[in-house]
Amino acid sequence: MNVVFLGPPGAGKGTQAEVISKERGMEHISTGDLLRGAVERGSPRGRKAKEYMEKGLLVPDELVVDIVAERVSRDGSSGSFLFDGFPRNLAQAKALDETLKRLKDRVDVVFYFAVSEEIAVRRLSGRWMCPACGANYNERYIPPKEEGICDRCGKVLTQRQDDKVETVKKRLKVYREQTADLIDYYEERGVLRRVDADLSVEETHKEINKTLTSLRKAR
Ligand SMILES: [Zn+2]
Repeated sequence: MNVVFLGPPGAGKGTQAEVISKERGMEHISTGDLLRGAVERGSPRGRKAKEYMEKGLLVPDELVVDIVAERVSRDGSSGSFLFDGFPRNLAQAKALDETLKRLKDRVDVVFYFAVSEEIAVRRLSGRWMCPACGANYNERYIPPKEEGICDRCGKVLTQRQDDKVETVKKRLKVYREQTADLIDYYEERGVLRRVDADLSVEETHKEINKTLTSLRKAR
């Protein structure tokens, strides 16, 4: 079974993807990880991707798609994948369908993590990280023992520029604009399921599991 998780920053899909992929023995495909892996291995595609990343540019669709296709094809049609934040747009979605079709496979279900602006802002703007050891914190969910200080190494925590309130609002708006036709595409194919991502991690998890279990039975 191949599953896609879509949703704006702050929707919590990364957290769910990690848990669900482990529970269900699915391969967790995050393009960020795949790209970093390709860059580290220094494969031809990885070297190309690196040029864009170093300039702070988005890696072009074709290259991202090739790297994903390479990974998916490696396991053949026996694979069961959870795509986390991929595809990002209609062109990538169509390319993914082509790749899976060649393997006589398909996207079975797409979960769209619908999150309100208020909740996304609250989640993201509360994020802090340690510049020294990389530990992550959240004011509400995983606060450090001492405010502003890393539990692990005692350094002063910092906030990513990306996580400041105004930036978060802008990112949400851009995300909605860029994914509207992608959502329509999956909706027309009847595979889209909306998840209420304003709920707690546990409740959202339960909702996704219920759908996955019923789909598995129906398959
Ligand atoms: Zn630290």
